Amino acid sequence: MFNKVLIANRGEIALRILRACKELGIQTVAVHSTADAEAMHVRLADESVCIGPPAARDSYLNMHEILAACEITGADAIHPGYGFLSENAKFAEILEAHNITFIGPSAEHIRIMGDKIAAKKTAKELGIPVVPGSEGAVVDPVEAKKIAADIGYPVLIKAASGGGGRGMKVAMTEADIVEALHTARSEAGAAFGDDAVYIEKYLSKPRHIEIQVLGDGKGGGVHLWERDCSLQRRHQKVWEEAVSPALDDKARRRIGDICAKAVQGLGYSGAGTVEFLYEDDEFYFIEMNTRLQVEHPVTEMITRIDLVNEQLRVASGNGMSFEQSDVQLFGHAIECRINAEHPETFVPSPGTIQYYHPPGGLGVRVDSGVYQGYVIPPHYDSLIGKLIVHGRTRPECLMRLRRSLDEFVVDGIETTLPLFRKLVANEDIQKGDYDIHWLENYLAKS
Ligand code: ADP
Repeated sequence: MFNKVLIANRGEIALRILRACKELGIQTVAVHSTADAEAMHVRLADESVCIGPPAARDSYLNMHEILAACEITGADAIHPGYGFLSENAKFAEILEAHNITFIGPSAEHIRIMGDKIAAKKTAKELGIPVVPGSEGAVVDPVEAKKIAADIGYPVLIKAASGGGGRGMKVAMTEADIVEALHTARSEAGAAFGDDAVYIEKYLSKPRHIEIQVLGDGKGGGVHLWERDCSLQRRHQKVWEEAVSPALDDKARRRIGDICAKAVQGLGYSGAGTVEFLYEDDEFYFIEMNTRLQVEHPVTEMITRIDLVNEQLRVASGNGMSFEQSDVQLFGHAIECRINAEHPETFVPSPGTIQYYHPPGGLGVRVDSGVYQGYVIPPHYDSLIGKLIVHGRTRPECLMRLRRSLDEFVVDGIETTLPLFRKLVANEDIQKGDYDIHWLENYLAKS
């Protein structure tokens, strides 16, 4: 096992990683910007190094400073968390060249999955069902029209280097193709420095269902069931649950097995998520994330497996602590992402937390780095914590979630807690009857 791990992230995920390291007896190094000197994970880490000013490009994305912090402290591995450098193949390669372990998959796998066209091709070769669409990048409008006519309208034009839902354009009919192709390409070029786009069928009312996988890098690989992340605003997940209210056991095992086999076929190492759209009992691959996800705790709650512990085991060469047949499924879990934002306008609300009282009790987990008196800096994303609740059944989980939300007090700033209090009381949510457009429609009406 590692002696010392440097955590190249901030906020709740830095604390989450620190906890797993502590349980394994691993020394921890926190790196932080000047804006995060008072963060909880910085206080709890064995050592801390300030790596730069608030702007992420000068601190959390600054590879040279992070590498220097590693050499100064003698850390033998880096956990990148999510976001920042977690899916940066170059960073993984630089670490390898310096004999520092990147806690994640190989640079090659990060690179393949970071290019959506290559990812889709690889997925198809591995036997994963994909959304019908173009084989590769599309430039010519005439070719685009031909492909769209073959798969049927509406179609979606997507950026090969896309992320965060940007660079996507829908064409409802052939008349829209020329403009949609042009806009998607120029948006993609401006946002990602790569104007390659591809075409796929636009699904009208899918759910977002993703499979958690874990590979040992030597051909071993498992799945840990699915998460339903259909409740999204602007393609950002808001509420995640495991298991999906839309899947039966047969569908769940079918897609899980496909993903586990794909992980084995790839020789994938570490944690990953295979994302699908699900409509009319069919799964359609959209992308693979080669890192730990924000919503990983719901999987931990239903499997009782510590995913960060497994990441550390695999990366240090100790292999996974379990096999597929050991993966059980206990009850139901729901996660609410608590953002420092106005619950109706979603305008960010940084500032000082005057009073903080998180909920507790059976089946309640709060992953957050904030505390009373903590000042939320304005420089980063607005996630301040996650409330994760577990129950033996979905109704029990919802009942406990409602109780926990009532108990949760964060004063001094605006948070999205009031939105979740409304959602948990909503009939469609209680029935589990929602698709990826449900939340936007609900917010537009209320
Ligand atoms: P990004 O990496 O930008 O998040 P994704 O491919 O993961 O891009 O897609 C983001 C979201 O866009 C999905 O969760 C879904 O809401 C929507 N989306 C993507 N592909 C399709 C499709 N073929 N049909 C309908 N909606 C889609």
